[in-house]
Order: sequence, then C-alpha cells, then structure tokens
Amino acid sequence: MAQPKRYLITAALPYANGLKHLGHLAGAYLPADIYVRYLKAQKRDVVFVCGSDEHGTAIPIQAMKEGTTAQAIIDKYHPIIEQNFKDLGIEFDIYHRTSSPLHHETAQEFFTALNKKGDLQIKETEQYFDEATSTFLADRYIKGTCPNCGYENAFGDQCERCGTSLSPEMLINPVSTLSGNIPIKKSTKHWYLPLDKHEDFLREWILNEHGNDAAANEAWRSTVLGQCKSWIDGGLQPRAVTRDLDWGVKVPLKDAAGKVLYVWFDAPIGYISATKQWALDNQKNWEPYWNDKETKLVHFIGKDNIVFHCIIFPVMLKLHGNILPTNVPANEFMNLEGDKMSTSRGWSIEMDDYINDWIKKDNGGPQLADTLRYYLTQIAPETKDSEFTWKGFQDANNSELVSIFGNFVNRALVLMHKLCGGKVPPLHADHLDNIDRKLVEEIKLAKDRIENLLEQYKFREALFEVIDLARKGNKYLQEKEPWKKNPVDEKHLIDNCLHICLQLTANLAVLINPFLPNTAKKMLYLLKVVDKILDWENAGSMKLLSVGYTLRAPELLFRKIEDTEIEVQIQKLNASKMEKESQEPLPPPEGHSRTGVAGSQLPVTNTLKDGIVFDDFAKVDLRIGTIISAKKVEKADKLLQLEVDLGFEKRTIVSGIALHFNAEDIIGKQVTVVVNLAPRKMKGIESNGMILMAEDKTGKLHFINPEGKIDEGSTVS
Ligand SMILES: [Zn+2]
Repeated sequence: MAQPKRYLITAALPYANGLKHLGHLAGAYLPADIYVRYLKAQKRDVVFVCGSDEHGTAIPIQAMKEGTTAQAIIDKYHPIIEQNFKDLGIEFDIYHRTSSPLHHETAQEFFTALNKKGDLQIKETEQYFDEATSTFLADRYIKGTCPNCGYENAFGDQCERCGTSLSPEMLINPVSTLSGNIPIKKSTKHWYLPLDKHEDFLREWILNEHGNDAAANEAWRSTVLGQCKSWIDGGLQPRAVTRDLDWGVKVPLKDAAGKVLYVWFDAPIGYISATKQWALDNQKNWEPYWNDKETKLVHFIGKDNIVFHCIIFPVMLKLHGNILPTNVPANEFMNLEGDKMSTSRGWSIEMDDYINDWIKKDNGGPQLADTLRYYLTQIAPETKDSEFTWKGFQDANNSELVSIFGNFVNRALVLMHKLCGGKVPPLHADHLDNIDRKLVEEIKLAKDRIENLLEQYKFREALFEVIDLARKGNKYLQEKEPWKKNPVDEKHLIDNCLHICLQLTANLAVLINPFLPNTAKKMLYLLKVVDKILDWENAGSMKLLSVGYTLRAPELLFRKIEDTEIEVQIQKLNASKMEKESQEPLPPPEGHSRTGVAGSQLPVTNTLKDGIVFDDFAKVDLRIGTIISAKKVEKADKLLQLEVDLGFEKRTIVSGIALHFNAEDIIGKQVTVVVNLAPRKMKGIESNGMILMAEDKTGKLHFINPEGKIDEGSTVS
C-alpha cells in the first residue's frame, strides 16, 4: 500500500471529572505517543490531537459532590491532566478542550449540517421531570430502589451496590436527587441518529474492508472486529443526539431551548475542533486532515470506547462528508494486582500519584517516566487484558532496563574509555570475523523488524526487539572479551569490538527513542551528538559516530528500584482501597449477585480467606483502647473522627462507622485497635490505626471489646 500523504492521530479525550490512572495511560495515550514519535522520526506529516472531554452529567455531579460549579471542576482537572501527560512524556501537538468556543461552534455546525440534510430523526418520549427545579432527570439526577438487589440509593444509570446497569424507568420509588421530590412523567422531544439505517454500510466497511482477510486496507485487531460484529449483529437502534440538560453544547435550533448535544455526539467532534485549533496556532490548513482521502486517520482508544469510534462516529463522519479512520487499535484493559483498576474503589494508581512518588522524588527524574513507559509497553493489553503488579514493574526495571539495556550501554562506554582513550576507535575491515559481521547484520534486521511491528501497532513486540538487540550486544561483548586482549598486538581486535559496540549504542538510541524518549536524549548527551541522529533512517547505519570522536564519561541510564520502594506502594494501594470502602457502598463480591428486597438480610459470608501462618498473624499489633471523643467528619457521611486512649498514647483514628453509631453514644466505649497499621489520610485527616468491628447478618456493626473494662493498651492475641 502506498504511503499515506499525512497522518492524523487521535487519543481518546480524557473525561475531565477527576484524575486519570495508569490503565488509561496504557490503553490509549502511551501507544499513540510511541506511534507518533516513530512517524515523526520518519519525517512523516503527522498531527497528534487530544484534549479534555468536558461535558455530560458526570461533571455537574462531581461539582455537586465537591460543592462547586461544573466550570470549576473542568478548570481544576484539565490543567492537571494536561501536565500529567507532559510529565510522562506524552507529547500531543495540541491538548484542546471541548468547553472552548471553537469546539461549541464546530459541534453545532456538525449537528446543523446533518439536521439540514434530513439525516436525523425527531421523536417525542416521556421522561421523568422534577417540577421544583424544572429539570428532566437522567442518570445521576434520579435515585430509587434497585429492582435487582433492593438497594435504596441506586442511581438512574447504575446500582452502585450490585453493579446492575439501570435506566430511570427501572427504579422503584424514584426520587429527584436535585430536590428530593417525587418526579412526574413529562413529554420531551429529541433528535436521533438512525444507526439502523447504516447497518449495510458498517457491515461492508468494517467487516469486509477491514476484516481479517482485508486485502486492500489494514485489517483491524480481531478483538475490535469481534466487538463491532456483535454490536451490528445485535441490531443497531436510533440513538438520541440531544438531551435535556443545561451543561454542554446548546442545540442550535429555536425550538430546542434547554437542550444540549449528547456528550457522545459532541466529544469525538472534539478531535476536529482540536485539529482546527492546532492549524490556527501553526498557520496550517486543517481541512485536508479530515477531508482528503490520502490522510491516514488512526484512533487510539481503550476497548470501552470501541462502539463510539468504530460504529457511531464513523456514521457521523460519513454523513458529514469526512474521511473514515483507517484503523482503531483499541487496547483491552490493564488490571492491577489481581483486580480491575478503579479510581472509585480506590484500586488504581493515578498518573499524578506516580509522578509525585517516583518522578518528582530526589532519586527520580525523567528516567522514572521511561521506566513506567517501558513496563506499561511490556505488558500492553494489545490482544487481551493484562496485569500491572509493582513486583513486575520492579523486575522490568531491574532485570531488563538496568541489567540488559543500561548495562550494555555502560559497558561499551566504560571499555571505550579504558581501552581506547575515550575516543571512537577505527574499524579494521580486514580483521572482521563472523561474530562481528553477524552483529552488524542483526542491527539492520532489528531495524526492519521493529519498523514492521510499529506499522502494525504491535508495540509490545517492537519494544522486545529493541531490548533483544541490546541483549545481543551484551552477548557479543562476552564472546569477544576485549579486556583480555593484548593492548599492543591485538589492538585492532579491541578497536573493532568497541567500534561496533559504540555504533550499536547509537543505533539503540534511535530505536528506543519512540518508546523511551528521555533515555534516547540522555544517550545523545553521552555520545555528544545532535538530535538529528534520532531520524529513523539512521537506524541500521554503522557510521553514526565518527572515528576519533571523543565521548563523555559514562553515566548510568537507569537506577535500581529497591524492595522497600515497592512495599510502600503496595501498602499505599491497600490503604486507599480501605479508605474508599469506608466511604462508598461496597461492591458485591465477584460472581455473586445479592437478591431480595430492601431491608432483607445479607448472608454472613462463609467463604474463608486464604490460610496464613502464625508469623503472619503475629505481625498485627492489637490493643484495647477507650474512645474519649468522637465527631462526624465533614462531607463524609460514613466517617467518624475518634480520639482513642491507648494507655501509652492517645491517637486520632478515622472510622467508617457513622451510619451505625451516633458520635455521642460511643464515648467511653472500649474497642480493639490495630495499632501498627501505616497511617493514612481520609478527608484530609491522618488516621493512625483501625478499629475492629464485627458485622452481623443484618449488616449491623458491633465493637469487639472485653467483658467489663480493662486497662488501655492491653494486648490482644
Ligand atoms: Zn442493585
């Protein structure tokens, strides 16, 4: 296939209602960045766009939670997320916002064009309406009893206890979350995109043109094709393009007061408005990027976005007369330490936390951004879900980056300073042997293989090839042992070996650059060469460094990561999960669904945890204490702040028991406390310990205390 004239690369617009975690980074942004860095090193015409998705109900809902405005929420999270990406080396050409006037204008034009051509349908439906606030109630604006588990505070889109997806109509005894009133049903008019009319187009375009045996075009990942096929086979339905809400892009019609474009409709148009803004900033023309068939459009996303980027947005683009994506290399999910990553459950690592804990620390720096990029690419969920573990992160750094890649570069530089006077030695062509020739050949082959893999979005394998080349460099040094050669009689052999190792080092800088840009930069510094060396066409060349050129003294590329650093992270993860669990309704255990009606009894679990040995148990220091004061924690329904007298000291402990006990009723009670738990912050208060509780079959909590008062500080074992 002919090379595209230009590329437009998009990465899913992050939703600006909170911090983004490493699963997001691995899903869309990192692979997109690697691909773009590779294309740029190839000197291709490429624009990489992204930005904040700032509409939808979750933003005003987050605002209610934080006691502020929707605008304040997006103004808070947009710059943080943008900076997080920068700190992790994700280099967009533009990071735009869907709240910008240019985006509102672009999205309105798009809607108007489709509406004028008669591509949208209008329908009247009945929806819940809150008369007190004159608001139609969708998603989180409505609460009621879950028809599945009987939980009384289920939202209109989902029950947070049993996880069932809901619609407002399914709730029993619905109540408006805005006023607390019982809503009425009221008729409302909306515009719909009739996806059902475009089924033939989608079938042909996705399953034939981009199917497994696509000849002329790129075949899509089978995981992506599979999801598309099941959506299409399941029957496509018209989808509402507008909704009754005051936060979003206003519907540009006179008879549509109080309506905005549905966020799924306006968000992907954000890619177009971002391209427009980039063009304005750089005196370029944006149009060929969206209208010329010689542009290659690639959407990088996570698998939860497939339907929007492979089915809905392409229909919109086709109707609007734009080009269609050439590929949508969606990733599967990345789990964390054996469980699904989730910020709301406290089981995640936010990009912001990683940056503060690793990159901004004294012994951190940009190298730690590269360590993360390395590990996330090594475990990239390209074909199936994968798993992040802190141990795996440490291993990837210590046994691959430090021991293989960093070690080879360091040895080449150290030996060259020791054996060749700090200068690039000459190559004596008449003394080359088969081992030398083989390595030179390997360098050229590696370039072709890596290039091929990157063109197919196989970043994981491509990175493996780079490390494997460094591994071959180490093996070569081991075979040649230049340090054992006679520095006079065998000088030509020493020269040849180090000459080849140094050219390989320069090649490694070119090849690692798309993946680990900070490492490539540091290598350029050590080799005292300019950025131009990183042009992709230089890979495979054995003439990147001139003979006689002096290089800098070696410095380590990567530092080792210690066990203690990993332990701190695992403790932090467990603490954040416990904090969330004390605030939110507990999600159900995996594979169970609780049935029954409101107020029914929950079974006392008979599933036992994994066995432990006595030493594990003995690590927990349990003491008896007396609660000497208690008060509610502001803005946290479930938390009480307690002062507990432990005899040897008094401690502040935050406990998630406010729904079960009144603060004033528990003063003077004796309790059992875990006293050697790492401190953790809850709602800004540092909690120094945990109170043990028993939960009976009605879900009620009870303190664990001795019969009759005993001395504070008494041990429990
Ligand atoms: Zn439920």
